[in-house]
Amino acid sequence: MHRLVHGVHRFQKRVFPSQQALFEKLAEGQSPSALFITCADSRINPSALTQTEPGELFILRNAGAMVPPYGAVQGGEAATVEYAISVLKVQDIIVCGHSHCGAVSALLNPAAAEGLTAVKQWLTHAESTRRILAENYADLTDPEQRLNVAIQEHTLVQLENLQTHPSVLAALSRDALRLHAWVYKFETGEVFAFDPEHGRFQSMGQPSEKKSTRVSPSDSGIRKRHHAAIIA
Ligand SMILES: [Zn+2]
Repeated sequence: MHRLVHGVHRFQKRVFPSQQALFEKLAEGQSPSALFITCADSRINPSALTQTEPGELFILRNAGAMVPPYGAVQGGEAATVEYAISVLKVQDIIVCGHSHCGAVSALLNPAAAEGLTAVKQWLTHAESTRRILAENYADLTDPEQRLNVAIQEHTLVQLENLQTHPSVLAALSRDALRLHAWVYKFETGEVFAFDPEHGRFQSMGQPSEKKSTRVSPSDSGIRKRHHAAIIA
């Protein structure tokens, strides 16, 4: 905790003065261009990843970067999505899964969530991901590959769940919104974006010269999907 308090002091002393004008302007209101949905995992920093400033991203975070289908829960997810679209008029929604996701891992290995009543309940909203893996990837036995594919499929399922939300459907139908699925491999800095045309995740470009092993993607057998409304 001491470290956090020290961080606040440092922020007030060094960071805030350099961005004071921005923060003062933001008091007048916010106008983020995107809703960024990602996992609560501490290894993800959406602002650092996208190099955005305060006011640019509306962020929704929870365990597993999930958006339950509309009406499935009385949670904050539906309200956040609705507010982002109907009030803030965001033009893009990015669902950003990530490598080594504990929530997706628990989905594949339910024993990991044993005794965690709330987690188990929350993961019931990811039943589609679990079933896609069980039924479509039965021959994929390597645990690491299986998790990577699950993370990608899970991210795509969230785009489908988003499309059960009336505000999302309405915005899509008037061409005012685009949906994107990303997977962030934090240990390499790589981001893979789903390309609906080719039905697979593609690297958004290397942060350095060094090529690294892909989270999964193209060769892993992610089935071809057709999302007319989704622009990668
Ligand atoms: Zn996660």
